[in-house]
Amino acid sequence: MELNLNVWKRGSQRAVHKPLLLLYALSQYQKGHDRFFTYKEIDEPLRDLLIEFGPYRTSHHPEYPFWRLQNDGIWELKNHEKAQPRSSNIDAKKSELLKYGVAGGLNQKEFDDIVNSKDKMARAIGELLEEFFPETIHDDIIEKLNIQEYLNKPHKRDPNFRQAVLTAYGYKCAICGFDCRLGHAPIGLEAAHIQWHQNNGPSTIENGIALCSLHHKAFDRGVFTINGCYRIQLSTNAYGGEIYKQLFSKFDNLEINLPNSIFLPSKIFLKWHTLNIFQK
Ligand SMILES: [Zn+2]
Repeated sequence: MELNLNVWKRGSQRAVHKPLLLLYALSQYQKGHDRFFTYKEIDEPLRDLLIEFGPYRTSHHPEYPFWRLQNDGIWELKNHEKAQPRSSNIDAKKSELLKYGVAGGLNQKEFDDIVNSKDKMARAIGELLEEFFPETIHDDIIEKLNIQEYLNKPHKRDPNFRQAVLTAYGYKCAICGFDCRLGHAPIGLEAAHIQWHQNNGPSTIENGIALCSLHHKAFDRGVFTINGCYRIQLSTNAYGGEIYKQLFSKFDNLEINLPNSIFLPSKIFLKWHTLNIFQK
């Protein structure tokens, strides 16, 4: 399946609504769902996905991608004539999608292609994951959607980025200071992109931060962010027991372990993270 994925990238904005809708549809096709989903079927699961993996918003609109994906040439709607809004630049109302039983699904050609080839299905899922989400989050989405098979291309990493970031932070997690080494090899220490690579975040020191695997994962899921004063801000939605308190609550509002001032993370990228990823 040729998905024209770049169409959905608007600069650094996180346009994951359509990718999440497609991932949901593909995961259901894997389980034998027929081509069309009524909006009623999509509303709740897609809303859940947007809450969990989309940018932080106070309200969510699964009806937007469901309606707008038809403009990308791979998604077909039926029973939508009556729900058609008067002006073409506005979306159909959710109440009308429900009232008229509007249904959507991949075009016949893409659907046939994908349900008849396990390989194409696995590749399409892999592409969607890779293009729109960092690796730390892939397993969470796979588990949530109960995706059976997917294929990730080997990741093109920039070894210089990792090396430069870890060196700048003295091979320690910027949050907890974790610094395990086995011989010369750092263990469980990673160079995280602050503004996601998938959203045009560059692989440069000012967009990097050294984090242990646990804090990297939590950072990419928005459990915490780092504000313009380099202080850790913990999400009020996150909680846990005694160990959580030691590994997270304890650091709330504290300054991160800063690198040398010439390597400080850029406030532009930190702001991107706070606006787009942090689960306030
Ligand atoms: Zn850590």
